[in-house]
Amino acid sequence: MNAHATLPSRLALVPFVSVAHMMQLVHHVGVETMLADLADSIERDFKRWEMFDKTARIPAHSPEGVIELMPTSDGEVYGFKYVNGHPVNMKSGLQTVTAFGLLADMHTGYPVLLSEMTMLTALRTAAMSALAARHLAPKGARTMAVIGNGAQSEFQCLGFKRVVGIDTVRLYDIDPAATEKCAANLAGSGLTVISCTSAEQAIEGAQIITTVTADKKLSTILTDNMVGPGVHINAVGGDSPGKTELHRDILLRSNIYVEYPPQTRIEGEIQQLSPDHPVTELWQVMTGATSGRTSQTEITLFDSVGFAIEDFSALRYVFAKALETGLYANLDMVADPDEPRDLFGMLMRAKG
Ligand code: NAD
Repeated sequence: MNAHATLPSRLALVPFVSVAHMMQLVHHVGVETMLADLADSIERDFKRWEMFDKTARIPAHSPEGVIELMPTSDGEVYGFKYVNGHPVNMKSGLQTVTAFGLLADMHTGYPVLLSEMTMLTALRTAAMSALAARHLAPKGARTMAVIGNGAQSEFQCLGFKRVVGIDTVRLYDIDPAATEKCAANLAGSGLTVISCTSAEQAIEGAQIITTVTADKKLSTILTDNMVGPGVHINAVGGDSPGKTELHRDILLRSNIYVEYPPQTRIEGEIQQLSPDHPVTELWQVMTGATSGRTSQTEITLFDSVGFAIEDFSALRYVFAKALETGLYANLDMVADPDEPRDLFGMLMRAKG
């Protein structure tokens, strides 16, 4: 997608994609098509990785969770996401993860899109996981275990169905109500859905294991003896300092693939390893500079934490779709005096 083709340099009113617009947009495109489109958009941007300004996201930690800012730019377009991660929220009826994001024109600094990103984060995270698995999962993988059946889980299942060819998901959550919800939401999706009563049962016969749990601690969702040769692990829930899902011994047996090492070393499963433990950057697999899976017996691990370029790609996609469909509102969020230096005059003229 060309930056100039889709980003007007200056808009008096800023398009705003609300939650309601986003849901209409997803239904207009189709959930699975949108997941596939997002995977392709992210891959295109990962292939031009070196054009982006990159920085580990900026966190504000509290005992309950974290609020993060995730900025990036390709020199033409700037984007950032505001996102939180508060596993305790669920107990009081709130989401663990909420988000919104913005795109701006680098040449004027004017914002050109404000969008909800709670829904979009679930879509882009699933798209990124599925994209990584497209390069790393064993050939012919059909069955995926999904441990943690919360807000992200159905998106993950559908992303893997569409992008990787998964036809069976084996679900497990410490809360059976979450598994029941996930199974009900996936009814009619075309996936064979098997609800399990333990993580051990869920991983039986699975070529791909997705862990997508939420707890602000060093958890052990998978122990070393649970992971056999040839498996691809998509570890999504360990994404903050002191918040991991896998036993360290699994990491030592795996070939580990990451988004942006300076961020993943702080936030990912690999925070458990020495800072020089070898990892492969996914963008290099996508460009062909290095290989993904090379044998049917190696254990591949995508240590997902979520990186700003994925949100940038997702926002660019939504921007184009919103303009195409008209699914947005106009926000009066940038003061725009006729004479640029007469900001005060504009204020005075607005009186009474
Ligand atoms: P959620 O709170 O809606 O769901 C989490 C589920 O995990 C809950 O149903 C909970 O019962 C279950 N769970 C907790 N401990 C478990 C255990 N030991 N075994 C099995 N299940 C367990 O959260 P969500 O929005 O689905 O997010 C899940 C995780 O993914 C969070 O940790 C979040 O921070 C992370 N996340 C990562 C990315 C990324 O890009 N890597 C993006 C979004 C969310």
